[in-house]
Amino acid sequence: MNIHEFNFIVNEMEKYYCKKLEDEQSKIYFKQLSFLSVERFKQIVDEIYKNNKFMPKVADIIDIDKKLSKPEMTILKVDCKECNGSGIVMYSQKDEESDYMYEYGARCACRNNRNWSIEIPLISQVMPI
Ligand SMILES: [Zn+2]
Repeated sequence: MNIHEFNFIVNEMEKYYCKKLEDEQSKIYFKQLSFLSVERFKQIVDEIYKNNKFMPKVADIIDIDKKLSKPEMTILKVDCKECNGSGIVMYSQKDEESDYMYEYGARCACRNNRNWSIEIPLISQVMPI
């Protein structure tokens, strides 16, 4: 981004945080951040408004740039005969009162179970082998 784009966004930030950067500070910010595209800088500043209570330092801005660059967490899926990769296995259990068989889901013993909340019991907890 160029100095005009930078100043435009920084002025807005200064107003929002009621804090004016000194000329020297502003120069350092620009020198350290000019490698960012203006779109990227806007995206980062949006995050800053949501997360920072105070005027960010260069290091805060760089941190957010790094955070935004991280790829989305990919959900690991392993082949598993028990759960067919879903991480959940069904089991039936008789309800003592009504005498009906009900189907329940439990987390499989394989790694696919990581995609599910630990509040769901593991199959080994409900169906001891
Ligand atoms: Zn499994």
